[in-house]
Amino acid sequence: MQRYSKFDLVIIGGGAAAFSAALKAETFNIKTAMVERGIVGGTCVNVGCVPSKNLLGAGEALYRLGNPSYSSISPCYEYGFDFSKTIRQKDSLVKYLRKQRYYDVLSSLESVKLIEGNASFLSPTRIKVENKNNNHKVVEAKKFIVATGSSSYVPPIKGIGDTDYLTNIEALSLDKKPSSMIVTGGRALGLEFAQMYSRFGTKVTLLQRSNRIIPEHEPEVSSALTQYLSEEGIDIITNVKIKEIYQKNDTKFVRISGNNGNINTKTLEAEELLLATGRKPNTKNLHPENAGVRIRQNDDAIIVNTEMLSSAPHIWAGGDVVGEPMLETVAAKEGATAAENALTGSHKKIDFLSIPSGIFTSPQVASVGLTEKQAMERYGVCDCRILDMNGVPKALIVNKTKGLIKMVVNPNKNNRIVGVHILSDMAADIIQEGVVAVRYGLTVDDIIDIVHVFPTMTEAMKLVAIAFKQDISKLTCCAE
Ligand SMILES: Cc1cc2nc3c(=O)[nH]c(=O)nc-3n(C[C@H](O)[C@H](O)[C@H](O)COP(=O)(O)OP(=O)(O)OC[C@H]3O[C@@H](n4cnc5c(N)ncnc54)[C@H](O)[C@@H]3O)c2cc1C
Repeated sequence: MQRYSKFDLVIIGGGAAAFSAALKAETFNIKTAMVERGIVGGTCVNVGCVPSKNLLGAGEALYRLGNPSYSSISPCYEYGFDFSKTIRQKDSLVKYLRKQRYYDVLSSLESVKLIEGNASFLSPTRIKVENKNNNHKVVEAKKFIVATGSSSYVPPIKGIGDTDYLTNIEALSLDKKPSSMIVTGGRALGLEFAQMYSRFGTKVTLLQRSNRIIPEHEPEVSSALTQYLSEEGIDIITNVKIKEIYQKNDTKFVRISGNNGNINTKTLEAEELLLATGRKPNTKNLHPENAGVRIRQNDDAIIVNTEMLSSAPHIWAGGDVVGEPMLETVAAKEGATAAENALTGSHKKIDFLSIPSGIFTSPQVASVGLTEKQAMERYGVCDCRILDMNGVPKALIVNKTKGLIKMVVNPNKNNRIVGVHILSDMAADIIQEGVVAVRYGLTVDDIIDIVHVFPTMTEAMKLVAIAFKQDISKLTCCAE
């Protein structure tokens, strides 16, 4: 069956970027369609941030039972943990948030209509939308916003086609807790899943191709996190080349060697193998070429300019489909920016330098702006201070002293803050002050001049700023 409909704006996708765009379109009362082929809400609420942070929280609660942060409290060795029930409570949360934050929001939008099915471009102004029953209709629009997100990247490893591996989707919904798991990938997703399962009681081995985990982050952060995760019992192997994977009955085998002769070829085995080797923009089968939308050769991301406009003059794109940084709030910002530019011609741009990122391990990693290396490359000069978290009164007071904060400044610009990198409890919250500093060009003196609440973890920001001026070990708790 073929039907035909016309809209002012068609948004392809139903995740964070698409919803932001739809909310913006509603304010202009534009006749809009949202086309979604899967479950409304997209990655974050269904198979991303929400379920993973919920399960990480469960892992943290379990871990604290056996590892209380006060020596006066005895560890609890006998406690109940029902893995299936944990997964089910996560499912309820996801269901609740999906309804409340996505379906209900969508139904409240009077000018936005949901069309279910897979969209692909037929021409610059028409898409084909095919539903699960293979019925399709043609939808025409003056303007489009592509917000199709990303999927797990599956690397071309020998044997991968014959091995049952997990991606984030399956790893968030297993029926039973695996006794052992090999995680490939030492960035945000790999690390979060590694710690989550390790704390559930799974023996986890993490393989990382480069010489350290989170290679884009500051080396001090990377090495301290490696130490903490290793102390918790996660085997982290870096500089790994995966030669082959295979499966016998339910056991998965990974044959590895070293990238630089550091490891003799050996075979690891585990009950489950999780691929966390990156994400790939969803442009396959979208046929962007039929609409004049160009994609990048190396990662299939839609190429956009700073206003989120693609190579076609009436098609914008946002979210994971335009590549890194692939983050929920970035997707939302890009979707809203794309819609505003599409509907008002306002040429709005996003300041990518001040976009923060977080990794929700414990301790957390959070970062904004330039690393020391990037600052050196950009300015030819930089200055940095590192403060261990045991120099922060609140961290000492509540026995959460793991980690550090590093501040990067441009000494040629009055010590303007260009980067903040944190490994600590609540790092993803503390970083917001760094975001404001980088976004509005604040200097070390500006941060020192701000009165912080005592005792809080955010005092780490002020103390590391003071460290540019004086020896902070010679200060009282909250003197300047
Ligand atoms: C395990 C995990 C944990 C994460 N944790 C965090 C976190 O803690 N913090 C954070 O900031 N980010 C996190 N992220 C990243 C975050 O989830 C994504 O950046 C964000 O969801 C991207 O939003 P989006 O709108 O671009 O894409 P999506 O939310 O993926 O939405 C795209 C939608 O488009 C649909 N679609 C695709 N192709 C078509 C088509 N041809 N036709 C119709 N519909 C189509 C898909 O079905 C999907 O629903 C995590 C990701 C994962 C996988």
